[in-house]
Amino acid sequence: MEQLDTPAGGHPELLSVIVPAYNEEAVLPEFHRRLAEVLRTIDMHAEIIYINDGSQDATLDVIRRFKQTDDSVTLIDLSRNFGKEAAMTAGFDLAAGDAIVIIDADLQDPPELIADMVRHWRAGYDMVYAQRTVREGESRLKKLTAYLFYRLIRTASRVHIPRDTGDFRLLSRRAVHALNCLREQHRFMKGLFAWIGFPQKALPYRRDARFAGESKFNYWKLWNFALDGFTSFTIAPLKVATYLGVTTALIAFLYAGYVVVRTTLYGNPVSGYPSLMVVITFLGGAQLAFIGILGEYLGRMFNETKQRPLYFLNAYEPASSAMRRDRPALSAGPAAGIVGAGQSGRVEQTAGRQHDE
Ligand code: UDP
Ligand code: MG
Repeated sequence: MEQLDTPAGGHPELLSVIVPAYNEEAVLPEFHRRLAEVLRTIDMHAEIIYINDGSQDATLDVIRRFKQTDDSVTLIDLSRNFGKEAAMTAGFDLAAGDAIVIIDADLQDPPELIADMVRHWRAGYDMVYAQRTVREGESRLKKLTAYLFYRLIRTASRVHIPRDTGDFRLLSRRAVHALNCLREQHRFMKGLFAWIGFPQKALPYRRDARFAGESKFNYWKLWNFALDGFTSFTIAPLKVATYLGVTTALIAFLYAGYVVVRTTLYGNPVSGYPSLMVVITFLGGAQLAFIGILGEYLGRMFNETKQRPLYFLNAYEPASSAMRRDRPALSAGPAAGIVGAGQSGRVEQTAGRQHDE
């Protein structure tokens, strides 16, 4: 084992690396090799938290294999596929580190950047996020839509979401503490990261193409993701209805005056069918559109009111490394209440049970 300084009266610093993985059997071995190599160069204890997000392939077995040879590996196995946002949340809830890194398993986020992140964290930043300068292996359309989305949400919401950032970043313990207080169902993480505040630092990097496997996000998923982003962080679309309504009413009022004057002066030859149709279809369309927008917000309120837990654990196998710390969900830490009282019991019940499929 490497020799690490122990701050007086405390334990050595711990770095938790959270890795959500959904059907990533093809990349994980290479990912683990590269990550472990990087962690060896950082003078902190480290734990690697793999979250198996209900994969249908052999991801779980691959992670279990890592555990046999690497005692810094923690396994969190969710009870089904909950999506990356929930998987990350499970990682944040259970990470014990003083600094916590979140990274994709597909090697699009270079693990080598973690060393720089730690340096900036030591310099006092609570959040060090990787900012893309180049995106390899992604279509023009994806780049364009991503570009438009970031710019639009920045103008529409008061939260400053930095452009061209993914989830890849380092958070301090207190930043994770803050993040764990936000338990909304529609988790637009980039927005949540920005919302909590604290000193933040951007770290430019090249985003590589996927090492293997395929992206799990198609355009429909991305569209819904964008909707979540908007509706979680701004009510501007609702206000558009108000202003459009007021403007239309004003125009209608002026037009009514014009019609009255014209009829008194020139009589009333029945005409104007086209203009009538235009007005009716325009108003009908606008009304339906804004009922739809209302529905988007209402539906999200409906989901929030159910107050369901964000995920359930099928298995939780903490790292067996020498670093023993109270695990947030198993202690009376802040996350325990959040995960739900019943769940820490569930964790113990299910920990170590074999995944039988
Ligand atoms: N991921 C996950 N659950 C999901 C979808 C994705 O945990 O339902 C993980 C995936 O394994 C990867 C990360 O989230 O580690 C990013 O996914 P992906 O590379 O497919 O997204 P993209 O880079 O295309 O945005
Ligand atoms: Mg990817």
